[in-house]
Amino acid sequence: MSFNAPARYFDGKTSAAQNVTVIIDDRDVILCKDGNLGDAFATLSRRDLLLCEKPHANSPLRLRRLRDDGMRIVFAKEDAKTVGDILCQGPVPVAVDEASGRAITRLTVGIIGFTALVGLVIWLAVPVAAQIFADLYPKQSEIAMGKSARDQILYTLGKLDDDFEVCEPTDQAYDAVDKIITQLGTNTPLGYDYEVTFVRSDIPNALALPGGQILVFSALTDIMDSPEAFTGVLAHEIGHSEMRHGLRNLFANSAITQLIRLISGGAMIFPAELALKQGYTRGMEREADAFALDSMQRANIRTTDTAILFAKLRDMMEKDHGGVDLPEMLSSHPDMNARITLFENATATGTVQIDAAEWQSLKTVCDDESDG
Ligand SMILES: [Zn+2]
Repeated sequence: MSFNAPARYFDGKTSAAQNVTVIIDDRDVILCKDGNLGDAFATLSRRDLLLCEKPHANSPLRLRRLRDDGMRIVFAKEDAKTVGDILCQGPVPVAVDEASGRAITRLTVGIIGFTALVGLVIWLAVPVAAQIFADLYPKQSEIAMGKSARDQILYTLGKLDDDFEVCEPTDQAYDAVDKIITQLGTNTPLGYDYEVTFVRSDIPNALALPGGQILVFSALTDIMDSPEAFTGVLAHEIGHSEMRHGLRNLFANSAITQLIRLISGGAMIFPAELALKQGYTRGMEREADAFALDSMQRANIRTTDTAILFAKLRDMMEKDHGGVDLPEMLSSHPDMNARITLFENATATGTVQIDAAEWQSLKTVCDDESDG
């Protein structure tokens, strides 16, 4: 008894496929040139063959050598069931490689498992490790790093923006900042000697560097209505410093960058990298806000003025959403409204203990000498 069917033949040496007609008899599988049963070019013993998978009516059927040399005879799915039945019967039945289906499944599960594991490592281990490194990092080094980071930022901003300038606060302004920080720390022990640098810039921004360095941009103080609003911003930045977010970011970002490079074999996958970094930042922003709310509450400083300031920033952002500048105060907050609600609803009603003249000296820190 003999049966024939068309198939695609891969010789195992090249990836090219060849159309063939396969004759299957009781003992052998004979390969003929396409459609030409008289032109056989190879005869394979059924004893030496193995089906790569169980025959299915809806998937192609592959036949290989028992001792796998890469050779494949692939029958179309229309013929798979018939060919499979014939090969599995007769005096020399061809066996089915039971392991192959499982191996593919295992491999797939393995790949998915590995990817998920890597994802988990990034999401769970990196922030934890970054926290540990940040905690272990000597405080004196952190303070020195913060100062040099501040100097570098000031230098860079000075190069980028002609109008940029480091402002010279009066003694009165220095005193006002000290008083505010002291009051904020009434019932919240602070871990650093905070140093606030005022800079003239059109971007309404404030940022915290490691080791207690805080930068406040004049465009932000310009839209503040009260020292309590200023205190809210300061408290938020102090929160970043107290929780060592700058250091954690530094460690996490370099760890993530290394991990992603490792996984992608050096391929550029910036969006994923950015998304991950962004994820941490949002969590840190929430932490900094929580710190600000808590420390202001403990010092009995009202937070509603900060809510008003945030609302102003939100409106500015909505008006100018095409702009490239996304200040720290805005950038990482997907939901500015939720943030505003938090500051609106806190119950402290007290004020900051500085007088009108001191507040004025703060507001005008970056004003031109010649104007006044
Ligand atoms: Zn922040």
